[in-house]
Amino acid sequence: MYERIYNFNPGPAALPLPVLERIQSEMLNFRGTGMSILEISHRSAEFDKVLNDAIERIRRLLSLDDSFHVLFLQGGASLQFAMVPMNLSEPGKPVDYINTGTWSTKAIAEARKQKKDVRVIASSEDKEFSYIPKDINFDGQASYIHITSNNTIRGTQWHTFPDTKGVPLVADMSSDIFSRRFDPGPFGLIYAGAQKNAGPAGVTVVIIRKDMLERVPDDLPTMLKYTTFAEKNSLHNTPPCFAIYVVGLVMEWLEDEIGGIDKMEEINRKKAEMLYSCIDESDFYRGTAAREDRSMMNVTFRLPTEELEKKFIQEALSKGFGGLKGHRSVGGCRASIYNAVSLEAVEKLVEFMNDFAKANRP
Ligand SMILES: *Cc1c(COP(=O)(O)O)cnc(C)c1O
Repeated sequence: MYERIYNFNPGPAALPLPVLERIQSEMLNFRGTGMSILEISHRSAEFDKVLNDAIERIRRLLSLDDSFHVLFLQGGASLQFAMVPMNLSEPGKPVDYINTGTWSTKAIAEARKQKKDVRVIASSEDKEFSYIPKDINFDGQASYIHITSNNTIRGTQWHTFPDTKGVPLVADMSSDIFSRRFDPGPFGLIYAGAQKNAGPAGVTVVIIRKDMLERVPDDLPTMLKYTTFAEKNSLHNTPPCFAIYVVGLVMEWLEDEIGGIDKMEEINRKKAEMLYSCIDESDFYRGTAAREDRSMMNVTFRLPTEELEKKFIQEALSKGFGGLKGHRSVGGCRASIYNAVSLEAVEKLVEFMNDFAKANRP
């Protein structure tokens, strides 16, 4: 029997064990085809079923009605930083961004490369992106308003989405899609690199409201147009078949084993509360994000010294807790507790953290 660690990686990240076991069991003979999923045609009836099942599950989980397309693209969330302004900016109108960290900053830079009229209408850069801006003034003039729903590196999250006066919201939900219930109504487009909370690396989930497709300029390269993927049900060219298959299995696990988004959210809340209480109740750990904006997915914290942080990460790993190092750009520690990280994993981590604090208090 193999030894699996408690995996707190930020991305690629933990996948549900039943999903991994299912992949293993289906690997050599995929559903009676005599081939693996890696070897079948993307035009086959079997793959069609895989693709459409994944889409239908995403629709049900997020309560998406027929006004939305669910698409599978490549190029990661990072390609969406460029595709969003290319496809969705309207002539003569600005595109608005709210800057809440590294990923928003990158999205803004890509929009500027497109020579769009980019307005950064709010930012939390003044306090090292430790909070989510409030009381933002929306003037109703923009093509769209771009936000990063969860800031994977800084550990902050939008807990309520802003009212943008009818201007469509565009959200990078790479690190919190499928973690909680939200109303998709105000969103023109949602994108998420799958490797955090939805599956493996190699596919990006894009949810686009159909009316947004009317904005797509004709002269864009075929592979950079949302219409190309919407018109062909993500089968214009060979899609990342294996990654889509795994996303489908993760959705099946979420629906049939966990019991859906509301149940998942309840578990995620419990996990985050346990970890934040451990941090708040100690005089050893210190959370880095403003309390009211703390992320349910990425819990960022510091120890009294950098030496202790190094020791903490090393000792944790030796006891079977992986992925606790903070992002290289900010240092410190981070526990990513995505959907596939169990309540038990968080309980064990809290135990370890309490023991470590007791043994190492200066
Ligand atoms: C990880 C991450 C990205 C980058 O995703 P890629 O798929 O590697 O391009 C972008 N945005 C957020 C919020 C992320 O967490």
